[in-house]
Amino acid sequence: MSSAVTNKAKALAKNYAKKQIRKLLIKLGKKALIAIGKGIALVGKMLLAVAGAFGLKGFLILLIIVFVGGALMYVFPFFGWFSSKSGSPKTPDQLRAEYEAAIMNSSEYAEYRPPQMLVQFIDNQRILKEKKKLWEIDPNKLISSLKPDIEMETFTDHYYTRTVTRTYVEGENEPREEVSESSWDVDKQLITKAHAWNRIETFTYRQEFSSSSSGDDTSESTVWVLDNRISETDFSKFDNTLKRLKFTHQDFKLLVDTVRVNKANYLDGYEGIYGSITGGDDWWGDHPSTGSGNWIWPTISTRITSGFYKRVDPFTGQIDFHNGLDIGRPIVDGKMDDRPQPIFAVADGEVTVAGEVSGYGNAVYIRHDSGVTTVYGHLKSIESGISVRKQIKAGTVIGIMGSTGRSTGIHLHFGVLKDGQYDNPLKYISLPSGR
Ligand SMILES: [Zn+2]
Repeated sequence: MSSAVTNKAKALAKNYAKKQIRKLLIKLGKKALIAIGKGIALVGKMLLAVAGAFGLKGFLILLIIVFVGGALMYVFPFFGWFSSKSGSPKTPDQLRAEYEAAIMNSSEYAEYRPPQMLVQFIDNQRILKEKKKLWEIDPNKLISSLKPDIEMETFTDHYYTRTVTRTYVEGENEPREEVSESSWDVDKQLITKAHAWNRIETFTYRQEFSSSSSGDDTSESTVWVLDNRISETDFSKFDNTLKRLKFTHQDFKLLVDTVRVNKANYLDGYEGIYGSITGGDDWWGDHPSTGSGNWIWPTISTRITSGFYKRVDPFTGQIDFHNGLDIGRPIVDGKMDDRPQPIFAVADGEVTVAGEVSGYGNAVYIRHDSGVTTVYGHLKSIESGISVRKQIKAGTVIGIMGSTGRSTGIHLHFGVLKDGQYDNPLKYISLPSGR
């Protein structure tokens, strides 16, 4: 796959995530807030489940974390994946309010406060690593280690006035002059250094003298004014926090990818114990992947039950060409996950088929750039709104995994048609390493 196409796919995936965030911000009604909270809680649960089942460290987890800021916020509540029947000690709303309050309290200077998105992404990683529930994490701990240290000094301004009052007295040629002088000092507190989670800012001040006069009256002042403000990248607070939480390079990489998709410049210029991030798209090249493609994985599960090859057909016993990839449901805690499994469009494109196809049951075909079409077969149902000629974005839920058509069990049949020929899907979508 050409790197131009790869880069385009990356850009599309990023744009999609960004778009979702924008959409989210617009929708910031109460409903959306609840959905965010639930989405985050569920992502935590999901990560746990997936990590437990597969021990994955790669793209799938990244995908899920990425979706904290994206589609799954809507998908999870929509499919009823989140249910609070276990009676959580905190509701997502309460937790969200706690995050907001803790961040507000971390500094009176808003520009140095740790960003909520970053804090929550770190906590999501912790939930994954430490196998905790979302509400078992105290937002205050993380925030207090990322909060800014502000140094201030007292600077004294000096003021001086001289006023001449003249009184004319009858019989006297010259006026009587009365001179009054006064001077006073004003102390003020100014920031000299702010050590925030991602930078150190230093401020220097100089004295400015000014005087003015009108007639014989004079006023003078010597006031401290800002001379220079220097901002230097410094992620030592951030590094120390992650070190304390025992983050590995892999954890960090996932965190960075997540952050980058949602807020591209948050970690630009990072040069710390986990490496360096120069900005731009280079970091994306490091995705663990056995496929050379970078289109997103079409479902939560990565359990491939049949690859792209010739095999014995389970119906006929004949040697059969399997022209795609079969992906079964995930296994969670040793059991088949029987929740509805959403199927995602792997890249932007136009729907060319949405309905019953012989053999494939309920199927969706999406045509992408450069003559490539993706095929999603055996769907239980096709999402409403997914219809022929519809333009859809990468990550859009197009249906639910099922077993319609010629199928021996619930799975997704995922195929890639290039110039009318079936091609190996792993050239187009990324599979987590270690599988
Ligand atoms: Zn198949």
